[in-house]
Amino acid sequence: MAARMRSPTFFRLFIGLTLVVLLSDLAFLATNYVAGRDALARAMQQEGEKLRSGFAVAMTMTYANMLQLARFVSTDPRVQRTFHEGKRAVEAEGGGPGGEGAAVARQALLELVRERWEQMQAEFGVRQLHFHLAPGSLSFLRVHAAGKFGDRMDDVRHIIVDTNNDGKARTGLETGRIYTGLRGVVPVVALPEDGGGHFGAVEVGSSFQPIVSALDRQLGAGIAVLLRHEHVDSNMWQEYVDKYFPGEPGACDCFVEATSRDDIYAILRDPVFGSIRGKAATDAVSLGERVYAVTRFPLFDYTAEAHPGTPPVGSVVLWTDDTEAVNAFRRSQWVNLGLGVFGFLLVELLLWGGMRLVARRMASELAIRTAELEEQTARLEKSNGELDRFASVISHDLQAPNRAVVSYLGLLEEKLAGTLDDEGKEFLGFAVEGGRRMAAMIRDLLAYSRVGRDPAPPEPVALDDVLASVRLDLALAIEEAGATLEVGPMPTVMGRAGDLTRVFDNLIANAVKYRSPERAPLVRVWAERDGERWCIAVEDNGIGVPMEYRARIFDFFQRAGQKPGIDGTGIGLAVVKKVVEMHGGSIWMDTAPSGAGSVFRFTLPAADRSASP
Ligand code: ADP
Repeated sequence: MAARMRSPTFFRLFIGLTLVVLLSDLAFLATNYVAGRDALARAMQQEGEKLRSGFAVAMTMTYANMLQLARFVSTDPRVQRTFHEGKRAVEAEGGGPGGEGAAVARQALLELVRERWEQMQAEFGVRQLHFHLAPGSLSFLRVHAAGKFGDRMDDVRHIIVDTNNDGKARTGLETGRIYTGLRGVVPVVALPEDGGGHFGAVEVGSSFQPIVSALDRQLGAGIAVLLRHEHVDSNMWQEYVDKYFPGEPGACDCFVEATSRDDIYAILRDPVFGSIRGKAATDAVSLGERVYAVTRFPLFDYTAEAHPGTPPVGSVVLWTDDTEAVNAFRRSQWVNLGLGVFGFLLVELLLWGGMRLVARRMASELAIRTAELEEQTARLEKSNGELDRFASVISHDLQAPNRAVVSYLGLLEEKLAGTLDDEGKEFLGFAVEGGRRMAAMIRDLLAYSRVGRDPAPPEPVALDDVLASVRLDLALAIEEAGATLEVGPMPTVMGRAGDLTRVFDNLIANAVKYRSPERAPLVRVWAERDGERWCIAVEDNGIGVPMEYRARIFDFFQRAGQKPGIDGTGIGLAVVKKVVEMHGGSIWMDTAPSGAGSVFRFTLPAADRSASP
């Protein structure tokens, strides 16, 4: 039994459950992996945000410094006077670089600011000090490149043009002819004795390099500022482009304007940096053994900030070495995988053991139950057989003495015919009648005990034929009663013809026997399909069965309280019920649909599953 449970149902069940366990295990691993990966990405993202705000703070501070230093220069009356003299000379000497007078004023201005310029460079990382004349931007003196002056930059230096136009101080990022800087620009106003009013601007600028170096030290992150080729080429003089960006790798369509570490060149070779115009993002980039969290965001210059929608001039890249965090994540995934495999094997082991245990228990339970059932069935079969044999023997053995009683009573009746008084004749009559009834009961009992004795297996039986033979058997009774027997189309069922003949014989005989004196007897037989069975009905318009007897009429010797004079033993319907049930069907009785009479219905197995009469 146990062996039967383990194959193949056992294995199918085991494999099915294994699949469920495996899927749950995989789901557990996947969820863990995704959660770990997301946490790592979130940590990188947050780190990126922090670096980004650090960078923004540094920019703001630098702008404030530049503006302060520019004011420090522009508010010196000697500077105001000398620069104003220069302005007048340029105007008198034909604009542009001007002539002799302009050169004298330029030299004087240079001398005036030289000391401060050196201080600014040394202490504040200033890279540029530039005097511009209004309107627009005409370079009067580049303290940081004293040999270059007199050029117009109206189309490049928008921050200067704007300050020269409205006299308001400004800060911003801008790429000029010589370099890209974080600039503070303030107007220069003429002294009252020179007529007042702003006539030019002074600009102090710093590059990104000191910012990135300081931030790297503070934040422990690599920082680089990248500028798009196109932007640089369209603003700077070529000689300065060549000077500041010699032999740059063209990895990203950009120049490295400033960087705190050389890693940037390797990072830029990563495909993530195909274009630096992308939106702000943090990505993991592997460089050899190390993994970096690289954050980048676009960089906008003065013009782009004033005009939203203008493309960025480059981008800022910040990176931290996240190798440890990534390795910790990888280690945790290995641990997870180990746990997953271990858990899976453990569950499988328990499953296998548990299922074997259950299978064994079930098998032994089943064996016990089956044995009990077999024993019970055998006992029942034995006692049924004994009962049937007993009934058969009894009725058979009763027949002979009963026949003797009846025939001797008949002889006695003949012999005493002249001598008996009326009462004696009546008593003898009762005795003869009793003997006859006894004979009928013995006959019916014998018939009952014979039901199911036929050892032949069930076979298709055409009920048309059965009914034809029943009609013949009952022809006399039908005729005497003046009854009509209507038989509808009859199906073929599985059964034994002899037993089925007995069923119709009893039912139709009863239908005729229990007729109503008020109407001509009519008996109808028809069949209806009911799934894999046939439901047969035998309907009459007779006296019907009172409600209180209906439950009992199929029992042995049970007769409904009909009027005396109708012969019967109370065994016919018991025989019918036994036959129907031995065919696997059931039988019940109702009032006829017409309202008068009875209808007996019973089911029988159809000979085929789809036939119709
Ligand atoms: P019986 O030998 O008395 O006819 P049955 O077992 O055939 O015995 O029937 C049991 C009782 O059921 C009958 O005595 C009768 O009262 C009632 N019965 C059977 N068939 C009909 C019928 N078609 N109409 C009215 N009563 C019936």
